[in-house]
Amino acid sequence: MQISKLYIVSTPIGNFKDITIRALNALKQVDLILCEDTRTTKKLLVHYQIKKPLLSYHHHSSQKRIDEILTLLRKGKNLALVSDAGTPGISDPGNLLIQKVIEQLDDKVKIVPIPGPSAIICAASVSGFPMDRFLFMGFLPAKKKRRDFFREISQARYPVIFYESPHRILRTLKELRNFLENLDGRYQLVVCRELTKKFETVYRGGIDEVVKKIENDKIKGEFVVICRKNSFRK
Ligand code: SAM
Repeated sequence: MQISKLYIVSTPIGNFKDITIRALNALKQVDLILCEDTRTTKKLLVHYQIKKPLLSYHHHSSQKRIDEILTLLRKGKNLALVSDAGTPGISDPGNLLIQKVIEQLDDKVKIVPIPGPSAIICAASVSGFPMDRFLFMGFLPAKKKRRDFFREISQARYPVIFYESPHRILRTLKELRNFLENLDGRYQLVVCRELTKKFETVYRGGIDEVVKKIENDKIKGEFVVICRKNSFRK
């Protein structure tokens, strides 16, 4: 029986040079590349002169699209899955597809990780916080569940990492401050903006301090937030 391969390929989170040789080889070798946004992935492929058919697979992809992908794998096609940036499956739609492949084609498909950049690890690596243990919470939920999310941060015994979008970052940090101010303890933040890109900035300090710095900069971007209670072990 022919075993097909599904490569889970990490791509740059900003700087196109942050791609591994294995990632480039996999993208060159596969029959087809599954991607969130074909326009975004095309830019990377053009940069590396890779010509491959693309098939979109994103949060709103239908069951029909998933079935189409499973059929390709069943037929022995080798595929690569990439996300818009970073490592597929981490706070993006990759994990659902991987789950379906495991459920339905476990003995027919080899899932191969091609590791590389991820915004969480990139931020954690420059935080200066002890990162032998941390809690990653993905994106903040919509309105009602936000308080639960903040409560979890206040109760966490380790630094907490989450993602935030440019238009919500200030609101989120202010809400977080208001929530945490009612509790004991002071918090230290590391907020990483536009990692590996032209306007890469790492803001460090108390919550108010960081809010002021971001307000003054007035430059938007993509953010990773790391929050740590001051009283943690050194
Ligand atoms: N799977 C990706 C990974 O491994 O990094 C994360 C996907 S998630 C949909 C996208 C979020 O990651 C952005 O909203 C932002 O919070 C964070 N992110 C991605 N690239 C970033 C960058 N260059 N700088 C800071 N944060 C980034």
